[in-house]
Amino acid sequence: MADFAPESVAFAAGHYIGGANVGDGERIPVARPSDRVDYAELPVADAATVDRAVNDAARAVRDSGWASRPPRERARAMRRWADLIEARAEELGRLEALGSTRPIAQAVTGDVASVAEGLRFFSEWADKLGGEVAATRTDQLGMIVSEPYGVVGAITPWNFPLSMASWKVGPALAAGNAMVLKPSELTPFSTVRLAQLAVEAGIPAGIFNVVQGTGAVTGDALSRHPGIAKLSFTGSTRTGIAVMKAAAESGIKPVTLELGGKSPQLVFADADLDKAAACIAGSLLANAGQACVAGSRLIVQAPVAEALVAALRSRLSSVTPGPTWKAATGFAPIISEPQARRIDAIVTRSREQGAEIVMGGGRIEGHHGAFYQPTLIGNVRADTAAVREEIFGPVLTIQTFVDEEEGLALADHPEYGLAAGIYTRDLGRGLRAVRRLQAGTVWVNRYSRTLDFILPTGGYKSSGIGKDLGRQAVEQNLRHKTVLIDIAG
Ligand code: NAD
Repeated sequence: MADFAPESVAFAAGHYIGGANVGDGERIPVARPSDRVDYAELPVADAATVDRAVNDAARAVRDSGWASRPPRERARAMRRWADLIEARAEELGRLEALGSTRPIAQAVTGDVASVAEGLRFFSEWADKLGGEVAATRTDQLGMIVSEPYGVVGAITPWNFPLSMASWKVGPALAAGNAMVLKPSELTPFSTVRLAQLAVEAGIPAGIFNVVQGTGAVTGDALSRHPGIAKLSFTGSTRTGIAVMKAAAESGIKPVTLELGGKSPQLVFADADLDKAAACIAGSLLANAGQACVAGSRLIVQAPVAEALVAALRSRLSSVTPGPTWKAATGFAPIISEPQARRIDAIVTRSREQGAEIVMGGGRIEGHHGAFYQPTLIGNVRADTAAVREEIFGPVLTIQTFVDEEEGLALADHPEYGLAAGIYTRDLGRGLRAVRRLQAGTVWVNRYSRTLDFILPTGGYKSSGIGKDLGRQAVEQNLRHKTVLIDIAG
């Protein structure tokens, strides 16, 4: 992997509607997280532009044969799309790295590679979920027929722009829908390239459309549009509530929500501490903690707390921050100055509540972008700001417990339930904890996703409704029609 010059990356800075680049709307500046330079202007789609995209998508569903042609043809087009993405991995990776927090080496070999393979996974479901025949009287035939919704809307966050887009568009298209997707206004451009490549691969124009803009204008218009039959959102819990409300106010449509988290890392005294430290540090450093599943609350059994914290300190002490266009960069910048200030404000508030900064606790100076030190915070309580609030930065709080019951009670968060890590060599204890923890994903003696896209991801409690990935994600893009036929002679 080589360094690249940010100015060398070309991209289409607008919407992508009906297979064409469109530039309608008032413009807002877009900054590079790595150096805070405004590098492009983004048009904001208003209700009329969103309407145009939804209508184009509806027309494409009706006229292109995408939903009506043999499902295996859809699957083939999606596989060609995945192949194209893989062939353009360097180009897509540069575009992703240019405008997001993803360092180029990780963007190419991690994000883009996983997007291509994920789309292949989804393509394989195109002809697998047609429905069921029901057990009825023999002079009747009862069927449950799966049908696509038509036009599905999606809204994605900034932290893994290409991956998040692929998790929405993959299942929607495999099921025979068209999509109108609004990426985050902070990281808007790589998603357009993804859509252009879809058309190049033979997916009909208008099946995958991208509208650009802010949440308040474009996201709200998309959530309220009556032509959107189903809505899929990934972002913060606060915005998820607004999206659900807007969708409900404008008519009934199913809404799936992938929201925030405050996930615990529960370490028992019998755990392999080296392995636990590697997993916990890895989760904290990945995208500098700007990941929904970041394991940001360490809950460790008292006898091993000191040893584990020492192991963590040593693993967190050498990071390689830098611009995302340098191949050597391993530690991501914080997405924006306001977000860096927000991290700092929560750390400061926690200190004022009596917390002790064990490590870090401030900016990494000497860079053009905003970077935050890997930070450990001790002497916290359940109501300390850093324990309660999703920080979205490389900050880990430390709480200790005496017995299993206390550990499990501390691990449960009153609001969030996205993921949890458990570290123990005792199988029974591990399985008891799996049963008890209120989380959509529980990792035992590991902490991260794999390329096993068959495993769905999604939250309990205020961390969300529904699943991305897995068979479940495709099922959520289908609705079911009950058919009962009288076949008596
Ligand atoms: P955010 O909620 O600020 O924004 C997400 C998206 O919603 C953006 O595209 C934004 O423009 C849009 N939006 C904002 N206001 C809107 C409104 N009123 N109506 C419609 N759309 C609106 O989140 P973010 O800062 O981009 O991303 C970080 C958050 O995303 C974190 O909370 C993180 O946990 C969450 N996240 C969750 C998952 C998951 O799988 N559960 C994955 C990634 C990120």
